[in-house]
This record gives sequence, C-alpha cells and structure tokens, in this order.
Amino acid sequence: MKKRCILPILCLPFLCAACKSVPTPSSSEPPQAIEEELQEPTTLPPPEHKPVPLPEPPPEPPVDPDIWDVSDVDISAIDQSRKLISFTFDDAPARTIENILAVFAAFNENNPDCPASATLFCNGCLFDSSSVSTLHAACALGFELGNHTYAHFDLTTLSEPTLQAEIDKTDALLEQADGKPRHLFRAPYGRLNDLVRATVQTPILDWTIDTLDWTGVTADEIYQTVWSQKFSGAIVLMHDGHDQTVDALKRLLPDLKAEGYQVVSISKMAKAHGVTMRRGNVYIRARKKEIGN
Ligand SMILES: [Zn+2]
Repeated sequence: MKKRCILPILCLPFLCAACKSVPTPSSSEPPQAIEEELQEPTTLPPPEHKPVPLPEPPPEPPVDPDIWDVSDVDISAIDQSRKLISFTFDDAPARTIENILAVFAAFNENNPDCPASATLFCNGCLFDSSSVSTLHAACALGFELGNHTYAHFDLTTLSEPTLQAEIDKTDALLEQADGKPRHLFRAPYGRLNDLVRATVQTPILDWTIDTLDWTGVTADEIYQTVWSQKFSGAIVLMHDGHDQTVDALKRLLPDLKAEGYQVVSISKMAKAHGVTMRRGNVYIRARKKEIGN
C-alpha cells in the first residue's frame, strides 16, 4: 500500500515538467510556431506540390551476344501494311551481280513507295579487284551482305580451324564493303553439323523456296516456283551467275508488289516481323510472331 501511495508523488515532478512543455499562449515559444503545429494537417501543400523523387531508370538490359543485332537495320522504307518476302542470292559476287543490282535499282527508281532489297551470300574466293566497290554499292541500294564461306566447301568435312578460317576470311572481305565484322551465314549446299552450328557466331539461314536456278531451269520456271510458293516471311534461294535468274527478277519485283508484297533483305524482314534471330540457330523463314517462326 505504501508503494501505491508513493508513486504519484514520485511522478509528480515529471508530470509537471511534461505539462510545462505543452505550448501555451503564455509560454516562451513564438505564437506562430504554435499555430503551425496545430494547423499542420490543413496547411500541408497539396500532394502534387510535394517534391516526388523521380524513380530510378530501369537498368539497361545486358546485350546478349547470341542475339543478331538489328538495331542499325533501317526499316523506315518498309510499308508495314505489306507482306514481306526475302530474296537471297548465293555464290556472289559473280558474273551477273551488276545485272541483279541494275534490276533492283531500276525497280526502286520507279517504285519509291516500295523499295526492294535482298541478301547477298558471298564467297571470298570469288572476290576480284572490283568486288568491294560493287558490294559497297549494293549496300547503298539497301542490300545486306551474308557469309557463304571462302571456298564453298562442304563444311561437314572440315576441321574446326579450317572451318573457322573459311568464315573469318570472308567476314574480313565483306567488312571492307559494309564495315561490319560479322554477317548472317549460309552453309554451302545447306550442309550443317553440330561443329558448324557451334562454330558459326551468327544466325544460320536456310531457305523456304528453292528456285533451283543453277540447274538450267528457265526464267519462267523460276518465276512460277516463287509465285506458287510465296507467303509473308518466306526466304527465296537464288544464285548469282545465271541470266535466267535476272530475267525472272524483272517480272517478280513488279508482280509481287502488285500482289501486296515488298521484297527485302533477311535482316529487314526479321526486324519488321519482330523475329529475334540467335547465333547458331537455323532459320528457314521469318514470319510474324503471331503466325509462328
Ligand atoms: Zn553456294
């Protein structure tokens, strides 16, 4: 009982001290300080006036070296309402390269709303003194350069060092024309094995439509092969060095445009269709994602 009686007495000085700290009009605190404290809930600036720290920008996603970089591929001239189809020419630069480029240049001159381009898969052993300037002109026309090895061997018969040299020597030549160290890859004869897929540092391109233009078929047969098998996302295999291919092109470019198509390089088609290509993967087409790859 004594303890109970003592507690209020012991606490009294502290209670009194606490009471003294409560501001009153007669205290030494400035009056405006009291007012601000009491009105704090209603005198706060509106929330929108509060300085809100900007959120930290999301970190840049790491660049995946396995993904084919299309950030510098210009698709501004692609009409997104059109179906897209890729023309590819293997075994370039050969006898008809200038004629192929001339057909595309003439078409683009007359069809600025639907410029056509293609991918040239080149062999280093075919280069002569004018090849770099010719391929440089092809790039200016919107073409893309691809690697078809140096000497067109069946790659499945080669050792890793020889295979690597076949790729690297041609990349170095192509870089003189387009300034790029690496290029889309197409294997001679389409022959691949695990070693080839592991050695190639870029996507590997096969094809959808084989025109068989190197076998001596006519221009009309080349035309009909493309016409009967075409779809948006298809990749057409043709070759440099055959006059009937050039003749077929003269009909295919305008007729495909009239059918709602635009002829473009593989990287342009992949970018326009939102298709991500990866190192070592083999692609036979590049359709829109909602259709499937
Ligand atoms: Zn070839």
